[in-house]
Amino acid sequence: MKEYKFGTIGKKTVIIDGGNLSINGRALKIEDIKCAYISPASLYKNGTVYFSTNGKNIDNAVLNKQAFMYATGQKSQVDELITELDIEMIQAEESQNLNKNKISKRQEKKQYQKDRLKQLKRDKVPYCPKCKSTSITYVNKKLSIGRAITGGILAGEAGAKLGGFTSKKGKVKCLNCGKTWKI
Ligand SMILES: [Zn+2]
Repeated sequence: MKEYKFGTIGKKTVIIDGGNLSINGRALKIEDIKCAYISPASLYKNGTVYFSTNGKNIDNAVLNKQAFMYATGQKSQVDELITELDIEMIQAEESQNLNKNKISKRQEKKQYQKDRLKQLKRDKVPYCPKCKSTSITYVNKKLSIGRAITGGILAGEAGAKLGGFTSKKGKVKCLNCGKTWKI
């Protein structure tokens, strides 16, 4: 018989006894367990271990009787328990919903960047070809276009100045990423 305690507040007692695994008194036959879904613990969040008897994961393992929570410092004990049980361990990194959320956020950002560049091109605002920042400055002449724009001077004026320097073959430097390029 081997006993573990997992969690922080309201610890769950997990016992391996012969062919049974008991979680807070609820016994599961180890041979019935198809696999364990494990979500990682971090400093900010407890991890969960869910013992699946049908091979599928569930949405809210925290409330399930076939599951327990563990703190980040208990990870090695979780590994020990799983090894002892000799069952398959599946990392349930994030729920599908979270993944979807992430993707749409990324797309949103991409779209925003696209719109922003369109706007900059339309207004003839010069920007860095690498990082798309508008904080750029002339290397030869010390005029900061970025400051001129954020300072409220119209893009048209900055654009005109940019045009005026073209004949002098000036170099422009990005204040954000440091890229320099010729204009
Ligand atoms: Zn840049």
